[in-house]
Amino acid sequence: MADEKKESKLRLSEEQQRQYLMALQEVGADRDCQRCGADFETSFGIASGRTAVDLHLSTEPIESYEQNYFEAIIAVCINCGSMNLHATGILDRRASGEVEESDG
Ligand SMILES: [Zn+2]
Repeated sequence: MADEKKESKLRLSEEQQRQYLMALQEVGADRDCQRCGADFETSFGIASGRTAVDLHLSTEPIESYEQNYFEAIIAVCINCGSMNLHATGILDRRASGEVEESDG
């Protein structure tokens, strides 16, 4: 049961994938592929699931998945397969207006 709940939280709908692509464009993270030069708008997609990056904060064993990770989405170049991680904590806060735009 807990695994199913975790799985549904990690999966991204097509709409969520589209929203994350838009969020990347809004923050200026929409440059063409750094590996092959493919155009961002036509060659990038968001993987259909979130991922988690483990943070090894101590030498103690990781006790639970929830305690030592940050969640990320993966932007994938569909031309060459290059992948870029973006922390959902940042993108989600921007989308909800919690992060103020900076004028520089
Ligand atoms: Zn590429």
